[in-house]
Amino acid sequence: MTTHQSLQHTEAQARFDLLDVEEYDVRLDLASSDETFGSVTTIRFSSHGGPTFVDLKPAQVHEIRFNGRPVDPDLLDRGRLPLETEPGANELVVDATMRFRNDGEGLHRSVDPADGRHYVYGMSFMDAAPSIFACFDQPDLKAPYTFHVQAPADWVVIGNSPAANPEPGVWEFETTRPLSTYFVTLVAGPYHLLRDEHDGIPLGLSARASIAKDLEADADELFTMTKACFDEFHRLFGIRYPFGEYHQAFVPEFNAGAMENPGCVTFRDPLIFSSRVTRGVRIQRATTVAHEMAHQWFGNIVTPKWWDDLWLNESFAEYMGNRVTADVTEYDDAWTHNAYARRQWGLIADQRPSTHPVAGNGAFDASAALQDFDGISYAKGSSILKQLNTMLGDEVFFAGAIDHFTTHRFGNATMHDLFASWEKAGAGDLSSFTGNWLRTAGPDTIVLDRAAGVVRRTPPADHPADRAHTLRVATASPEGKWEVSTLRVQGAETPHPASPGAAVVLDPYEDTWALVQPDPATVAALKALLPETDDTRLRAGIWNNVRSAFHNAALAPADALDLLEAGVPVEDSDDAIFAIMPWAMTKVAPLSGDPAAALRRIHATAVAKVGSAAAGSTLQLSAFQAAVSSASDAGLLRAWLAGDGLPDGIALDLDLRWRVLVRLAVLGEVDRAELQAALDAEPTAVSRVEHSRAMASLPDAEAKAWAWQRFTGEVDVPNYELEAAGLGMWRHGQEELTAEYVHRFFADLPGTVEKRSGWLLADAAQAFFPMTALADETLAKAQALIDDETLDLSLRRRLVDDADELAHRLAIRRAHPAS
Ligand SMILES: [Zn+2]
Repeated sequence: MTTHQSLQHTEAQARFDLLDVEEYDVRLDLASSDETFGSVTTIRFSSHGGPTFVDLKPAQVHEIRFNGRPVDPDLLDRGRLPLETEPGANELVVDATMRFRNDGEGLHRSVDPADGRHYVYGMSFMDAAPSIFACFDQPDLKAPYTFHVQAPADWVVIGNSPAANPEPGVWEFETTRPLSTYFVTLVAGPYHLLRDEHDGIPLGLSARASIAKDLEADADELFTMTKACFDEFHRLFGIRYPFGEYHQAFVPEFNAGAMENPGCVTFRDPLIFSSRVTRGVRIQRATTVAHEMAHQWFGNIVTPKWWDDLWLNESFAEYMGNRVTADVTEYDDAWTHNAYARRQWGLIADQRPSTHPVAGNGAFDASAALQDFDGISYAKGSSILKQLNTMLGDEVFFAGAIDHFTTHRFGNATMHDLFASWEKAGAGDLSSFTGNWLRTAGPDTIVLDRAAGVVRRTPPADHPADRAHTLRVATASPEGKWEVSTLRVQGAETPHPASPGAAVVLDPYEDTWALVQPDPATVAALKALLPETDDTRLRAGIWNNVRSAFHNAALAPADALDLLEAGVPVEDSDDAIFAIMPWAMTKVAPLSGDPAAALRRIHATAVAKVGSAAAGSTLQLSAFQAAVSSASDAGLLRAWLAGDGLPDGIALDLDLRWRVLVRLAVLGEVDRAELQAALDAEPTAVSRVEHSRAMASLPDAEAKAWAWQRFTGEVDVPNYELEAAGLGMWRHGQEELTAEYVHRFFADLPGTVEKRSGWLLADAAQAFFPMTALADETLAKAQALIDDETLDLSLRRRLVDDADELAHRLAIRRAHPAS
């Protein structure tokens, strides 16, 4: 693998000062080969004169002409071609052959296992654009693009602007608005394309031909929410969507959830559902749709000048995505979903040794910025912006945003610019707010000290701040009735008397950003109260309190199981079951004194819920998923697989069949021939991933070796299959079989940089981390590698986080040895 230099902030500043890019003209030939494509780029730009470089990551260069003169391609060094620019107008023409990639970046090409057809999409994010076309790859050198694409005759080609298709295989795109390199894209292949229109905006939805019927089934829901969101964004921002058509392309083997490319958003295609899914999964998709739409304004009309402000894109889109989904789509419970699906992600990231401020974390180069693209950028940042919105009110909040969009339209801006717009709109001086909440890492811890009659606020030791919190508190009366009051927490101690034994839940509605945990008396009281608690949001808040306490060893596994048994019967949100049951199976049960007994209790709770939930409801579906994954009785699983004794309202579809097969594999109750037969019966992309998970899960040495060949790259497989193999191979109860791979993980991990890069490099490191090897030796090995200065930056970051997770699990075991 060729190494490339990551662009440094200082280099980007120098290039920005030197150049003004006028336009890109890009000719791509996608029809000539399955492995490579032709890429001829003409860049017209003006310069003050002097040396710079263009970014280019080709397979082969045919010709480079700069201001009419040939340039020696051998000057290209690790992705950079030096240029001595002339004052005034310059023109660079690069004629190259580029490689299709298979890691979800650049121009990704894949083969659909269902029908053998080929699909292509572009993912330029961060630093992948130069593997598609020659460019000055930094966010603040925006320019309009004109694409000309040659493709196989039966392909559809979609991009950032509308295209004409004058003859089969020829696609001429209109010149785009000024775009940053990182969101220039192209989606090409025999995609199934559906069109609609709303308020003058042509809309498109596309997915692989083999899942056309699933796309058709969801098209109405997707178009309806897209239209409603456009109306709401237009109302809130007062600025029309400016990028022409709005396509939402569901593409294969996509690493992220989605990417906000103007006019052509790409989504991971498991979001087109081939099996029944829960309401929570649909909400996740809806908030993703709204999130990407918010980016059209925040990120695409106005783009961060440098990667250190990427958080603003994500925090803003995350906040607006949740809010708009809750306000104008059928998913008015989007904030409940957020509580279950996102809050812990951000809170735990903010407690890790790798925590960083939401804003201004430096990002000296592009790859360093990618490391800090995490739950803090999304969940914490969104929570802080929500607080800011509460503080300022909608009028000032949106007046500031609109000023920002107007002032920097089709340009770039910084966090400073946005806060200046808010101050101009009447927000007053926001410097202490930004200092405390956005420039200081880590959450305050807020707990009730019942004996002292106070609520204590403790800032993180390494990141002192003086943050005031306004939060609601839910207190249960002796009769078990919840009452909600508002508490202002300022200073180290805030008087808050609580009667002995009364449950007191701090911040159940997530008004602030803090680590809140229930005190022991509250935990005891909750076991009786949860079954009577009919406020869905309050229960979500309670579960966040409980999960935080468990993470920090302040709640015993036995208590967690008691709470699960108390809470699940009353639960009416499938999001709750979807989040809490896997948490109990993978984190609580293995740390219990008797893991097998704990798993039996979880299974019994799930089965009871399947029986009590309405037949055919998604609540029942989520409980059945948990019942399958927690089952230890192979006979029961076999019966379900055969369609015998399935609960009324449950039908086995592809997803449930594979869930059963994966569970049978973990138990060693299925052989390879049966797994292969299941794959052959329905050889879809989904089946391949689940087959990979099942194969790696089998309790024998061959299975673990099979998974390991994928990790080391000896066997090359697509990203989702690789991740599934990693998650499958480490199973509690199989520690003896996987013992030899604990050492091998730390020995082999550094070498994976030779096989993969970017997202996939880091994702594989995380999927294959030996999380089930709950021992101090594992931690010591991780620490030794973390201390190795030659280790790749992104591998180190994942290792730091995984080691911290393991350390927390070991701490829980030490604190609650016989629980
Ligand atoms: Zn985003």
